[in-house]
Amino acid sequence: DLQDIHNYDVLSIIGTGSFGTCYKVRHKKTNKYYVWKAVDYGSMSLQNKKLLVTEVNLIGTLKHPHIVQYFGRIIHQSSGTLYIIMEWCERGDLNSLINNCKASKTSIHEKFIWKVLYQTAKALEACHSLLSHVTVLHRDIKPANIFIDRDYNIKLGDFGLAKILLNNVNFSSTVVGTPYYMSPEQIHGSKYNKKTDVWSLGCLIFELCGLSQPFNGNDLMELKENIAKNRLSRIPTIYSDYLDKMVKLLLSSNHEFRPSVEMIIHHPTVICNYDKNA
Ligand code: ADP
Ligand code: MG
Repeated sequence: DLQDIHNYDVLSIIGTGSFGTCYKVRHKKTNKYYVWKAVDYGSMSLQNKKLLVTEVNLIGTLKHPHIVQYFGRIIHQSSGTLYIIMEWCERGDLNSLINNCKASKTSIHEKFIWKVLYQTAKALEACHSLLSHVTVLHRDIKPANIFIDRDYNIKLGDFGLAKILLNNVNFSSTVVGTPYYMSPEQIHGSKYNKKTDVWSLGCLIFELCGLSQPFNGNDLMELKENIAKNRLSRIPTIYSDYLDKMVKLLLSSNHEFRPSVEMIIHHPTVICNYDKNA
């Protein structure tokens, strides 16, 4: 039974994030590895607790090859901890990959970058269509939220949850990061739309190539100015013109010029370059 805390051995801490700590655990009977995310709900309002449970139940219904699978939740009342059981992505996240490449002065293979583009677009397509009638999920598309499994397949993780937790005052102070992937329309105060995710995807692909964000600044105002200017350098010359053109298309200032996720998945150069074994 996956829903009982006693059926697992806790092996190690993977890391502590904004909302709790992730542990690598082993399900004793099956010898399978999972990740537990321990969220402290003790200080949350009753309303937020209910919201949290609703959202966790909802993300549990989302099953997709490129979305981190949730297997359930365990509520440990005496400690006020909610354990969310999810798939273990053994090759970590794209943020670690970027940092490793920077440290070792290596680059990410172009084939793998096309794979990230295709598979992340697939995951977003599922989010856009499957759940759009139920809820607007907070999809924080950034390298730290995209995971790699044993076979180097991409899994989009960590959403839904962030939306509730971000609204919780007890958590909000710890999650204020620089919004490097903020879109031009968000700067202008427009509502989130599906093309906003495409912008973030463009930022992600650029960062995988260049190992730094497409837009930067010394403070938030400067960052916003640079995003609005939309001046993009070419991705490193080891990458093809096709990939450079694709990144620029995804990072079109006007969201109407950006392709939809469906268009990305069906785009000839994306299809030509997508290799599921990369
Ligand atoms: P954050 O709030 O910063 O995203 P998380 O709590 O999501 O932090 O994650 C903490 C650490 O655990 C990170 O290093 C992350 O890469 C890792 N992690 C989270 N989920 C998984 C998973 N399903 N498989 C493998 N590692 C994971
Ligand atoms: Mg995370």
